Amino acid sequence: MISALSRFILIICVAFIVSFIVLANWGNEWGIAAGIFILSIPLIYSYINLARLGRYIQNDSLENMPLPSGLWEEIFFRLQRLIKNLKQRMGQIEQQHDHFIEAFQASPNGIVMLDENDQIEWCNSIAEHFFGLIFKRDAMQRINFLIRRPEFIHYLNRRHFDEPLLIERMGPDSSLSLMMQAFPFGQNRHLLLIQNVTDLQKADAMRRDFVANVSHEMRTPITVLMGFLETVQSLELAKEQRDQYFEMMMSQAQRMKSLVEDLLTLANLEANTQPAVTNVVKSETLMALLRNDAEALSKGKHQFSFEIDSTQSILGDEREILSAFSNLVSNAIRYTPDGGKINVKWSVNHQGQGEFAVSDTGPGIASEHLSRLTERFYRVDRSRSRDTGGTGLGLAIVKHIASRHQAQLMIESTPGKGSTFMLRIPRERLGN
Ligand code: ADP
Repeated sequence: MISALSRFILIICVAFIVSFIVLANWGNEWGIAAGIFILSIPLIYSYINLARLGRYIQNDSLENMPLPSGLWEEIFFRLQRLIKNLKQRMGQIEQQHDHFIEAFQASPNGIVMLDENDQIEWCNSIAEHFFGLIFKRDAMQRINFLIRRPEFIHYLNRRHFDEPLLIERMGPDSSLSLMMQAFPFGQNRHLLLIQNVTDLQKADAMRRDFVANVSHEMRTPITVLMGFLETVQSLELAKEQRDQYFEMMMSQAQRMKSLVEDLLTLANLEANTQPAVTNVVKSETLMALLRNDAEALSKGKHQFSFEIDSTQSILGDEREILSAFSNLVSNAIRYTPDGGKINVKWSVNHQGQGEFAVSDTGPGIASEHLSRLTERFYRVDRSRSRDTGGTGLGLAIVKHIASRHQAQLMIESTPGKGSTFMLRIPRERLGN
């Protein structure tokens, strides 16, 4: 800058000296004309450079402008440097902004930024999905005009954001439970965070149902047991009658024991998230054990056929596999009326998958129940299940064991004709 100024002063001095010399030799007019001529040279030069500067500024390419020599060089150079630095800074800020947006977009939670009038300044795509918003369309719209749920409007108007708000039946198919909370920031603006708690809510409901079911299942035998105990304690009973009461008490105690055992089995299976071990479980041994247990349970009331079409073993946890297979066999025995037929088959299909199938000529199951049979405590016929010592947990256990062995439980049933329960085991889980 200083050198530019000194060059300017130098030109003025030169103009003075030349006009003075001309004035002394040729008179006033020529001296003034020479001075004006010399001074107008840098003016014209400056005008030309200013015009160039204007053109480059208009095209937003000042930093590419070739530097003029002379007086304007330093000024333009500094201008160019300033603009370059500014652009670089702007680029960095834009990059930071993009990073923030990317981070907010990557969040599994919905995020909405609201200005002081609750107008949407920005929202991420999760929030768009939760509320059916389209940011490009809804930017700067008041959020309470777009989300018309009374509890939400009340929450916003109350301006009391210490507690989160739970809204159910939200989302595109009204199936989501959303927990949201507004956090103040800046000047009277708010960040609205929305969390999808649908699964948590479901798990909570399931836990409540489960506790209620277990209590209910336990209360009945306990009540019956206590009733018998009171009777035996307070009445003088004949030995025969007392023995009969003891037998009934035993069966109630047995029912509680089975329930607790099944609950523990289920809890252990659920707690174990690792796939099952790959011990070799011989199919012949399994089938022999199943046949013994089946005959003992049936007490000769059913006709059994055991088909072993393959000698291939199963790679898995022997105790779990036996428990799953015997659950299916015992269900067939318990639900098939006396004289019915039960077929138990182990084979390997064309795709090399193992198939363990239990077919019975029992009452069958209507199709609307099929998808729910593996739910805990789901029963088609409550009294039949209880009368035969069922806990309502058998198929839930089978399903867990199947999934730990990457196997599939398939159920086919025709009411009045019978059912087939099949466990399909992947070829990777079969040994020689
Ligand atoms: P449960 O202890 O009641 O037998 P499960 O989980 O083993 O519980 O079975 C769930 C329900 O599925 C049973 O209550 C019964 O209604 C039905 N079910 C299971 N196996 C059979 C079968 N072989 N024939 C008819 N119904 C069956």
